[in-house]
Amino acid sequence: MPITANNPNRKTWIETSAQTDFPIQNIPFGVFLTRDDIITIGTRIGDTAIDLGALHQLGYFNDIPLTDDIFLQDSLNDFISDGKKTWRLVRNKIADIFDSNNASLRDNEEHRKVVLFSLDEIEMQLPVQVGDYTDFYSSIEHATNVGTMFRDPDNALLPNWLHIPVAYHGRSSSIIPSGIPVHRPQGQKLPNGATEPIFGPSRLVDFELEMAFITTDANHIGEPIPIEEAEDYIFGLVLFNDWSARDIQKWEYVPLGPFLAKNFASSISCWIVTLDALEPYRTASPKPLKPVMPYLQYEGEKSFDINLEVSIKPEGKAETTVSKSNFKHMYWNMAQQLTHHTINGCPVNSGDMMGSGTISGPTPDSYGSMLELSWRGERPIRLEEGGDRKFIEDNDTVIMRGHCEKDGVRIGFGEVTTKLLPVFKK
Ligand code: MN
Repeated sequence: MPITANNPNRKTWIETSAQTDFPIQNIPFGVFLTRDDIITIGTRIGDTAIDLGALHQLGYFNDIPLTDDIFLQDSLNDFISDGKKTWRLVRNKIADIFDSNNASLRDNEEHRKVVLFSLDEIEMQLPVQVGDYTDFYSSIEHATNVGTMFRDPDNALLPNWLHIPVAYHGRSSSIIPSGIPVHRPQGQKLPNGATEPIFGPSRLVDFELEMAFITTDANHIGEPIPIEEAEDYIFGLVLFNDWSARDIQKWEYVPLGPFLAKNFASSISCWIVTLDALEPYRTASPKPLKPVMPYLQYEGEKSFDINLEVSIKPEGKAETTVSKSNFKHMYWNMAQQLTHHTINGCPVNSGDMMGSGTISGPTPDSYGSMLELSWRGERPIRLEEGGDRKFIEDNDTVIMRGHCEKDGVRIGFGEVTTKLLPVFKK
């Protein structure tokens, strides 16, 4: 089925600015509370939020086989379970409804009043109920930088890294939407030179610039997903800030890997941009440095050219862009990650979230964490309005943004914005 929603020549009757992340070619999916305190599934064109529950009740999706309450839900999980064919039909239909040549909703003021909202009338929610969350470690630059700092510059990559998309299982309970602040965590850490740990606030709170993909029900227990099918089970992507406490991490991570240094919070952007919408921005992955096993070999282009950036905004001051990276730098792509994840028969469900791992590029200004940008604190980053940062300080806001651009069409993710609050006190 063609993705007519991606037609770059389509214009919409909704007012949009030229630089919007959400032109009619995007049509992301999210969940929001309306001005009447009703929770609904919606989409967005420019700065207009669209209530898909209301549109469906008014009959605009009558020619698509959907249950009556599919959009009247507090998460996208059931809609995602309907599968790729349905997502595509619905996106194509939304593009058609908002096409500048389609008068049906455009000229129906009563319908428009119940369907359309300005952004200040809605409150975005988590778009999916995340059952399971996995975080990969798939940027070779990031793995090399961290291996160089913490272990051995001559053997920065561990022997398995070029063979396996390395990952760990995280906690879904602390995945939060953009706008929700995070408290600085406390925990155990080993001061430099000490032999016994101390307890206290983390002094090395960091962001990790990542993207995460959201899956549909992919397989039953015991059944691996072949790599040529893997992308059929990916609904879409969000920006992902995987908050990290480096001092807690350094003390706890041997031998089982990340635990409390990582599971206190991970923040996501609220609009899921579909894999269909990203189709025009496919690009080649980095060339593998070693041959990969047959089950991880693929045909075609499976990476996506998504420009990413991170800013730090101290309280009351202007923001400073501290990193510019790109999703295409990932050594292991999403199809390889999902295939590897299920090669042992591990079941993947609707609403599962898979983090890419920190997306560092090849140059020092493209690193995806303060750990790397400030090189363990040895090279503080200058801020626009004075001062500098080695890691994130109390009341700083971290903002991540991402967008693709090609042939005059820009598809973006909006932003994930999170303020770091001081340690929680009762
Ligand atoms: Mn991470």
